[in-house]
Amino acid sequence: MTHDLSPIEAEIRRRITAAGPMPVAQFMSLCLTHPQHGYYITRDPFGARGDFITAPEISQMFGELLGLWCAATWQLMGSPENIRLVELGPGRGTMMLDALRAVQIVPQFRKALVAHMVEISPTLEQRQRQALSAIDVPTEWHQSLDQVPDGPTIILANEFIDALPVHQAVMCVDGWHERVIRIAEDGSLQFSHARDPIALFEQMLPPRLRDAAIGDIFEWRGDRIALEIGRRVMRSHGAALLIDYGHLESAVGDTLQAVGRQAYADPLQAPGALDLTAHVDFQALAQTAQSFGARVHGPITQATLLRRLGIETRADALTKGAPLSKNSEVKNALARLTSEDATGMGRMFKAIAFADPALGELPGFETEPAANDTGDRHAPSQTKPA
Ligand code: SAH
Repeated sequence: MTHDLSPIEAEIRRRITAAGPMPVAQFMSLCLTHPQHGYYITRDPFGARGDFITAPEISQMFGELLGLWCAATWQLMGSPENIRLVELGPGRGTMMLDALRAVQIVPQFRKALVAHMVEISPTLEQRQRQALSAIDVPTEWHQSLDQVPDGPTIILANEFIDALPVHQAVMCVDGWHERVIRIAEDGSLQFSHARDPIALFEQMLPPRLRDAAIGDIFEWRGDRIALEIGRRVMRSHGAALLIDYGHLESAVGDTLQAVGRQAYADPLQAPGALDLTAHVDFQALAQTAQSFGARVHGPITQATLLRRLGIETRADALTKGAPLSKNSEVKNALARLTSEDATGMGRMFKAIAFADPALGELPGFETEPAANDTGDRHAPSQTKPA
């Protein structure tokens, strides 16, 4: 190798040399959250000059509307005196800050809540602490959801699940093998597959995926987070709202993707220096939540959710009497968040909610459209003050 190895690449090579080819999930986990050198651990990757930009960083409207969603959901829960408002993977803390500002108009909710930030990165935790110091709401930090104390809970997550490691399996002549990373003869890191097929893998797959073609790839998340979300929601008679990009139905396909400086890159190049994500399998998530007895709402597109929660009214309020520059900033943000172009955020991103069935319909999910809804054009009535 001619280039200097980053500490994380050196670690990955050390492990492959010692223990053999490394499953994709382990590679992804090390690259993103290695305790010293992981991508999220060492940096703040967000914003226009960072590697990527997320919905809450595009506009305050996003967090505000989700905050009001939480207030309305809390009312459906019977307005419990104490409510844990949990955010998974809060990035810069922008969404929580905007949410907490917005819920000042529901003082009883604001008084009842404690914010719980679930964040693995000390660097980002610092950012979040700074952001939330602007507002007087009790806030606690945890490294994982199971550290959040029990009690009435509402969970929010934007672009969190996509950052959790995925396993990949490749269909070979003798069945599905785990996809791994090995060191090739020329010394480079290279995708390959484990020597032996995964026992009983077919039985795990939805029946329509059982006759896959040689070379097809299937992805699944082996982490416990979906289980923990389902368990929490039911135990606390609460709700969770997850927004992410992915596919509505479990499907074959390699969606592992690397991004650095707002451009796609080879996932094996520069381990630890690139963001790695893989699409969310909404069907798998929904099945997990259902297995705990939770009711699944959606998925619907982000555009549909935000419109139903009143983003247009909120944008009008923000532009009224504002200087021209602010005006166009808000309009651009509205267009970006709700764009239904083929690659637009409003359509690529989906919202799914899980809740105790006793809560009934959740705000924004009232008229459950067909799952492949590409954004409801009938401008449904608003459900919330904006
Ligand atoms: N929700 C934010 C950030 C999304 S990026 C936004 O929309 O802007 C993913 C976030 O999840 C980061 O804050 C990252 O540090 C955090 N994260 C990644 N893996 C995690 C894990 N296993 N446990 C907790 N947080 C994690």
